[in-house]
Amino acid sequence: MPYSDAGHAPVTVIGLGRMGQALARAFLADGHPTTVWNRSAAKAEQLVARGAILAASARAAAAASPLVVICVADYQAARELLDPLGDVLAGRVLVNLTSGTSKQARETADWATLQGATYLDGVILAFPQGIGTADAVLLYSGPRPAFDTHESTLQSLGAGTTYLGVDHGLSSLYDLAMLSVMWSVLNGFLHGTALLGTAQVDAATLAQFMKQGIGSMIEWISAYAEQIDAGKYPAVDSTINTHLAGMKHLIQESESLGINVELPKFVKTLTDRAVADGRGGDSYAAMIEQFRKPTTARP
Ligand code: NAP
Repeated sequence: MPYSDAGHAPVTVIGLGRMGQALARAFLADGHPTTVWNRSAAKAEQLVARGAILAASARAAAAASPLVVICVADYQAARELLDPLGDVLAGRVLVNLTSGTSKQARETADWATLQGATYLDGVILAFPQGIGTADAVLLYSGPRPAFDTHESTLQSLGAGTTYLGVDHGLSSLYDLAMLSVMWSVLNGFLHGTALLGTAQVDAATLAQFMKQGIGSMIEWISAYAEQIDAGKYPAVDSTINTHLAGMKHLIQESESLGINVELPKFVKTLTDRAVADGRGGDSYAAMIEQFRKPTTARP
């Protein structure tokens, strides 16, 4: 069910890869006059058929709208495109939906400000097919007035359009935090699937079984979040020492079944360090101290 907030504010989309095309389609679907440009012009064809205006150059595209959205492969590509356009961006709001780091976002914000542009950095927590729906989450950071001015246009991209704060680096940090969560869960699922596969249990069975486990995990993660924010880690449920014993079983089992053992060994290495730091009797939330330190060469 598309999320609808019909509007007539013009918008430009630079970069028409999988994601850029989805962004332009969503703006067009909501009635926004949409100017597009892509290095490989053929990717604009379907959008033009839907009513988009194909600009002759990136410069002409940027000049066409007060709101300019860019979404390309990475910041290097974005800056290669944007750097020659500084003068034309002056007085416009530039929204960069290209994925990157908080440092790249802040540097690009500084550059845009020098050009006289207003810069919002954004990230997309959705696949292209989710853009424009109630499920799409897009996060923005930068000056609030610019977000407020263009919020109704940006809402065309998804109902989960959210402003995070004035620090341009925030959106990237949220994005990368969520990727960290995602890969941890995915890798745990894959390792668990390899384990159960040795007993001919298929991946779909584990996926179904995980549903309930993940639901209750959210409950105790919230409790751990309170401990982390308070800086105190009482072992209400179980201690780090108890977790460590389970990790040893997981390593033994994985080794004896002949499957990859790197993931549980890595987790145990961090946990051993927490115990060495005197945290063995605390809750698992105390492991945050290991993640807050830079990576060191210690064993
Ligand atoms: P994509 O399909 O590979 O498209 C890449 C885009 O970048 C194309 O428009 C490409 O132009 C352009 N590009 C690359 N290098 C360029 C350069 N040097 N100069 C000019 N244009 C250049 O990637 P995508 O899926 O659209 O992803 C775009 C951004 O969205 C990425 O930062 C990605 O992390 C982010 N994102 C994607 C998803 C997703 O599921 N796809 C989800 C969230 C966030 P050509 O067409 O001319 O090659």
